[in-house]
Amino acid sequence: MVNQDPTNPSHSLFDQFVQTQTCKEVQRTFSELCHHLELDPRDYQSFYTKLKERLNYWKAKALWIKLDKRAQHQDYQQGKVCAKTKCLVLGAGPCGLRTAIELALLGAQVVVLEKRDSFSRNNVLHLWPYTICDLRGLAAKKFYGKFCTGALDHISIRQLQLILLKVSLLLGVEVNTGVEFKGFVEPSEATDCMCFSSICMSFSPGFRWKELRGKLAIGITCNFINHHSAAEAQVAEISGVARIYNQKFFQDLLTEEGIDLENIVYYKDATHYFVMTAKKKSLLKMGVIKQDFSDANQLLGQANVDQDALLRYAHSAAHFSTGHRLPNMQFALNHAGQPDVAMFDFTCMHRAENASLVRERKGKKLLIGLVGDCLVEPFWPLGTGIARGFLAAFDTAWMVRSWGKGKPHLEVVAERESIYQLLSQTTPENISKNYSAFSIDPATRYQHVNLNSIKANQLQHLVPMCVHG
Ligand code: FAD
Repeated sequence: MVNQDPTNPSHSLFDQFVQTQTCKEVQRTFSELCHHLELDPRDYQSFYTKLKERLNYWKAKALWIKLDKRAQHQDYQQGKVCAKTKCLVLGAGPCGLRTAIELALLGAQVVVLEKRDSFSRNNVLHLWPYTICDLRGLAAKKFYGKFCTGALDHISIRQLQLILLKVSLLLGVEVNTGVEFKGFVEPSEATDCMCFSSICMSFSPGFRWKELRGKLAIGITCNFINHHSAAEAQVAEISGVARIYNQKFFQDLLTEEGIDLENIVYYKDATHYFVMTAKKKSLLKMGVIKQDFSDANQLLGQANVDQDALLRYAHSAAHFSTGHRLPNMQFALNHAGQPDVAMFDFTCMHRAENASLVRERKGKKLLIGLVGDCLVEPFWPLGTGIARGFLAAFDTAWMVRSWGKGKPHLEVVAERESIYQLLSQTTPENISKNYSAFSIDPATRYQHVNLNSIKANQLQHLVPMCVHG
C-alpha cells in the first residue's frame, strides 16, 4: 500500500498535530506538516482539498470523513458562497474560533487575531447537549479522546480552544496569536472594492450595550491539580448544588468552616475545578475582603483582597464540599504561574443592543458582527456561554452567507437582528431537539423563527444610506 508507512514523517507530524496540547505546539506542528507536504496554508480556497490529497494516511482519513460530512452541507454551497469574502475574527476564544470555522466552510478567507500567545484557561465549561453533538461532528474526540465520555458534559476552556484551533487550521483559517487588535485602518484609494466582513469579539465601534444589574453576586473559581489517582476518581462531581435545594449542606459549611455560599459546582476534568457564589458577609468575616465598599470594583479590587485568605477560603470550600475525600489538594497554576484562584463580580451583565452593523469608508463596506460574550454576557450558573455563543456564531455565519449571496445590506442586517431577538430566551429545552440536523440555517435550531420580525426601515441607523445595497 502506498504512503501507509508508520515512519512516514508526514504521518508522524500529523499524529503530533492531532495530539499536541499547547497552542504554540499546534501552530509549530501544523507549519511543519504544511512545509513537509509542500502546502501553502494561505492558499485558503484549496488548502483543505490539497491536504486531503497529499496526506494519504488512515488516521487522517478518519478525520476527513467527519469534516467532509460537515463541509458538504448544502448551506455552504461547496465553499463557493463566500469565496470573495474576507473575514477578520477578533479573539481566538471558543466562540471566535467556532465562528471562524463556519466562515471557512462558506469559502471565505478568514484571519483570526488573538492577543494572547497561549491557551491557559483551566476553568471547565458545562456544555448543553447540542454543543456536544456539534463538537463531535467536528471530530472533537479525535483530538481529545476523553471528550464528553460517559455522562460527562464538560470541557476545560483551553482544551476546547485547542480542538477548535486544530479544526480551524485544517480548514485553511489563518490564526495569528500574540497579535492584539487595536483598531481599524481606513481603506486607501488603492484597495480593491471587495467586501470585507469582520466579526468583532472585544473591540466593537458603533455598538451599544444594555446593562442588566442584579443583586451583588461574587463568584470564586479555583482549580486543583488532578493527579488522576484512584482515590480522586472515586470522588463524585457536583453538577450544581444551590442553597434552596440543600439547606443543610450550606448550613454545615457555614458552621464548620465559616463559609457562606449560595451555590457550588465541582467538575473533574484536566483539573479539579470548582466555581461558587460566596456571600459578601462571610468573605469579610474570613478576611478575604478587607473592607466593605458599595462599589463592586473597589470591593473586589486587588488592594482590598487578601490573596492568602482567598486561597484558604476556596480550599476549605472545595475540601468540605467533596466530603474531605479529595487527597493532596494542590492548586493548579494559572497563566501567571500563580495558584489558579479568581474572584469576580457578576452582578452586572451586558447585552449588545444590536448584533451587527455596516460601515462604509471611501466606498468600501465593512460588515461587523458580534459573537460570544461580547454579544451577550453569560450567567455562569446557567452555563449559557458556549451554547448561546455557538448559536450566535452560526447566526453570524448565516448573515455572512446572505451578504456573500448579494442580498441587500439592510435586509442582511434586518434578518440578523430578527434572529438575535431569540438568543437570550434559548434554553436546552426550547431549542430544536434534532441536534444532528443543526446547521447555520436558523430554522434548523430555533423552534419558531421569524426572519422578518425586525423591519429594514427600523435599522437604517445601522447601515449608512449609501450602502443600502
Ligand atoms: P473569550 O473566551 O473571552 O475569548 C475572547 C478572546 O479574545 C480571548 O482569547 C482574548 O485573549 C482575546 N482578545 C481580547 N481582546 C483582544 C484584542 N484586542 N485583540 C486580539 N484578541 C483579543 N460557559 C458555559 O458555556 N458553560 C459554563 O459552565 C460556564 N461557566 C463559566 C464559569 C465562569 C466562572 C465564567 C467566568 C464563565 C463561564 N462560562 C461558561 C462562560 C464562558 O467562559 C464564555 O462564554 C466563553 O469563554 C466565551 O467565549 P468567547 O470566545 O466569546 O470569549
